Amino acid sequence: MTDTFVAQSHILHRAFGQRPENVVSAEGIKLVLESGRTMYDATCGPSVSVLGHHQPKVTEAITRQLKQIAYVYSGARFTAEPNEELASMILGACPGGLSKAIFVNSGSEATDAAIKLATQYWHERGLPNKSHVIARKQSYHGNTIGALNVSGHTSRREIYRDWISENVSFVDPCYAFRLQKADESPNQYLQRLRDQLEAEIIRVGPGNISAFIAETVSGTTLGCLPPVPGYFKAVRELCDKYDILLILDEASYICTDHTIMCGMGKTGTMHAWEQEGIRGPDIQTIGKALGGGFVPLSGVLLHQKIFDALAAGSKGLLHGHTFQAHPIATAAAVAVQKIIKELDLLNNVAKMGKVLEEALEEMIRPLPFVADIRGRGLFWAVEFLADPESGAPFAENAKFCNQVVDAAFENGLNILGNLGVTGDVHVEHVIVAPPYIVSESEIRDI
Ligand code: PLP
Repeated sequence: MTDTFVAQSHILHRAFGQRPENVVSAEGIKLVLESGRTMYDATCGPSVSVLGHHQPKVTEAITRQLKQIAYVYSGARFTAEPNEELASMILGACPGGLSKAIFVNSGSEATDAAIKLATQYWHERGLPNKSHVIARKQSYHGNTIGALNVSGHTSRREIYRDWISENVSFVDPCYAFRLQKADESPNQYLQRLRDQLEAEIIRVGPGNISAFIAETVSGTTLGCLPPVPGYFKAVRELCDKYDILLILDEASYICTDHTIMCGMGKTGTMHAWEQEGIRGPDIQTIGKALGGGFVPLSGVLLHQKIFDALAAGSKGLLHGHTFQAHPIATAAAVAVQKIIKELDLLNNVAKMGKVLEEALEEMIRPLPFVADIRGRGLFWAVEFLADPESGAPFAENAKFCNQVVDAAFENGLNILGNLGVTGDVHVEHVIVAPPYIVSESEIRDI
């Protein structure tokens, strides 16, 4: 049934049966609704508003930039100061040879740009047949047609199958909790994943393959799922052995300094892959928290070797958008990065992450249907199974996580639920990812 407000609104809302709540203001971690209710935003939207909902210094930075120059077309002749500053902040101290950035407006655009960049790279090198992409089942890289093509989230692809390319194939994700066999050691599981990827590379033929794409820490579909130690080492080795580009999608959650959230409470590394003991990807996407939710902003980082190939060839990028590297967005993102450093927020992430982990273990672990609690820093998921004892999943239409999200909402708490109807594995989980400014008492309330 369609809600009357939704039917009359000129906005095409996503869920027709549900009247969206009008958020009139916000402070810190709390949203104020038109009805007068306040709610804890315990996931910063989908892991976006990591500084909370109001930051005077970001407002100032945006206003300053508006007065200076609001927009330049960064496609050809122009650039603007904050664009250059943000790229230097992200790449200046970056190990692994990532040396250039492209700024776009969403994670999906970043995925599209990454795939196109990889394709252009092989063309410039005189190897145009290298166009196939190997991706992973149960993955999510975005909602545009390009990004859906490399996403293993089958229910999101279903009705668009005529637009889906056969030039993409899928291997298993690294998901030990559900997919490691009872009689397999972690090393045997890792070896099986490695063998499967190698077999797929040989089946398609390395001379036809452009890239392997994966989320470093799975966010949307599998819920805050870090890889088994050694997984990305094996992936990197295979990519090197067969001359295939490695694209790591870190657009889901955190980026730049924020990767502390996937960092096992160590001091922050700039990128999640730095904790995987690899030299780095050839192409990386970043997004979501990059602009702290004050502006839409995502990006693609690329290795110097990709730039060198383009520079030696056509001397240009066959990709671009009207609003790429918008100076208002990059100015806001520079301010976000500075605030994280000034307030030493990564320390708070490590400290509050511990508090959140303990609270989840103490209060949530004993509840029925709770099968796994996993995460790092302030980025946590609770996965449900119909029977955690036997490992039996919910039926495909159970939508248990939606019930959890609805009940939380009724109680003044906004969390994210994910119903992963994704082919062979049915995943149900909720994410709790409060902002870096969260306090201990707010975590206890959540
Ligand atoms: N890549 C990953 C890993 C994501 O989790 C998402 C969104 O959740 C995207 C890409 C798409 O980002 P956007 O929704 O900004 O297009």
